[in-house]
Amino acid sequence: MEQVQNFINGTLTASQSGRTAPVYNPANGEQSREVVLSSADEVRDAIAAAQKAFPRWATTSPLRRARILFKFKELLEANMDELARLISSEHGKVYSDAVGELTRGLEVVEFACGIPHLLKGEHSLNVGTNVDSHSMMQPLGVCAGISPFNFPTMVPMWMFPVAIACGNTFVMKPSEKDPSASLRLAALLQEAGLPDGVFNVVNGDKEAVDVLLTDHRVQAVSFVGSTPIAEYIYSTASTHGKRCQALGGAKNHAVIMPDADLDLAANALMGAAFGAAGERCMAISVAVAVGDEVADQLVARLKPQIEALRIGPGVVKGQENDMGPLVSAAHRDKVVGYINQGEAEGAELVVDGRGLKVAGHEAGYFVGGTLFDKVTPEMTIYQEEIFGPVLAVVRVPDYASALELVNSHEYGNGTAIFTRDGHAGRQFGQDVLAGMVGINVPIPVPMAFHSFGGWKRSVFGPLNMHGPDGVRFYTRMKTLTSRWPSEPQQAAEFSMPTMK
Ligand code: NAD
Repeated sequence: MEQVQNFINGTLTASQSGRTAPVYNPANGEQSREVVLSSADEVRDAIAAAQKAFPRWATTSPLRRARILFKFKELLEANMDELARLISSEHGKVYSDAVGELTRGLEVVEFACGIPHLLKGEHSLNVGTNVDSHSMMQPLGVCAGISPFNFPTMVPMWMFPVAIACGNTFVMKPSEKDPSASLRLAALLQEAGLPDGVFNVVNGDKEAVDVLLTDHRVQAVSFVGSTPIAEYIYSTASTHGKRCQALGGAKNHAVIMPDADLDLAANALMGAAFGAAGERCMAISVAVAVGDEVADQLVARLKPQIEALRIGPGVVKGQENDMGPLVSAAHRDKVVGYINQGEAEGAELVVDGRGLKVAGHEAGYFVGGTLFDKVTPEMTIYQEEIFGPVLAVVRVPDYASALELVNSHEYGNGTAIFTRDGHAGRQFGQDVLAGMVGINVPIPVPMAFHSFGGWKRSVFGPLNMHGPDGVRFYTRMKTLTSRWPSEPQQAAEFSMPTMK
């Protein structure tokens, strides 16, 4: 059995912990590899390597750091096909979607290539007479990243390109469900010329994560995953004096107004709800139909499209599938459990994705597209994140109730409104309590040069991922005030020199 190891100080390193976890191909349910679950000491070794590499990397000029990232970007492009296949083989997503996540990650690398410009800081001449002031954005030291299964390359690339461009060194802890792609990224970084120890990968579970959260040498922790773990990561890392940004779960609503272009809305919902089998933090899982007529027409448009979804393995010859399997048997069972519960709670099951069998892939973790109508806010399938191909339609009488519904949910990652009324769209953008808002755009993911993050219990910590927030997160500001008097000082001063 091939073993997915660690990458410490530029070398693939076997683990002595004696603990491993199976890695499956979700399309056929077969174990393809095993991943090491590192011991606390092995994580400490990775931190030590990153700590040792830090002083030299921090003083390498930003221009030279950027050139390595430019080379890394070229290598990512050259190896995209192989990486996409690797992602699909462990995550299950369809090939084009794997290329999509790699492209989104690559865009953060492109952003980080601009680091000489991004680190210029601020400068004020004559803050007092002949006194100047300027800021320096200095790296923090060793930073850590902990990522979820659903974007095995994009989410790590939300973090490490910006961190290392800023002059930090990094220890990455990928999801144990699809860990291989991170090691490929580490190899490509090395090929691009990154010095040993600047980027390290440790595979593992809670034991490994807890070291990253508590070891005094780690300065900052970036996390993306489910809300209960995000909250734990944030509180533990903060208690141990670290900076932390922890992005959590989501239940993204799309409001469909009576004046919306319903064909546009239905098509948009198809991709947003069922793309990547719903395993996206920006997936739309709730369609809020304003008025019964909108709901009826929406359901009538969605039903045949959901029934026609092409579902199968992520990589196939010929025409590609729309949707692959879920990541694991346990997750498939959890999603099926939610569908059972929705039915038991009285929601109207319009399309039932349970029991789907894909010919030739009978042991794969497939669930078909599922549509519930007449879902109410008291139902579990409304309240909890399902993270599967399940779309819930909630009927409300008017815009005010739609807004109230979205704003009352515990999560506030992304949201969207479909309308032809510019005023309604604009008002929604102002009033809605969510971090990322789309107007006739179902998945409003900010580009790499903006920052990504939600509101409410979808995020813990003030700074979002990549873009300007990413640069702020991975640097600390130092402000220097200086004067160079030509004459000797005449007398001591005891008051604040505000008037000089
Ligand atoms: P998860 O929280 O189970 O795991 C995320 C990471 O935390 C993994 O690396 C895992 O090994 C580690 N982990 C798990 N349990 C832990 C524990 N008890 N202590 C310490 N570390 C632990 O999440 P997942 O199932 O891999 O990913 C899906 C979740 O991620 C969904 O909730 C989804 O919404 C969320 N997500 C959010 C965003 C966002 O931007 N807000 C993006 C992608 C995914």
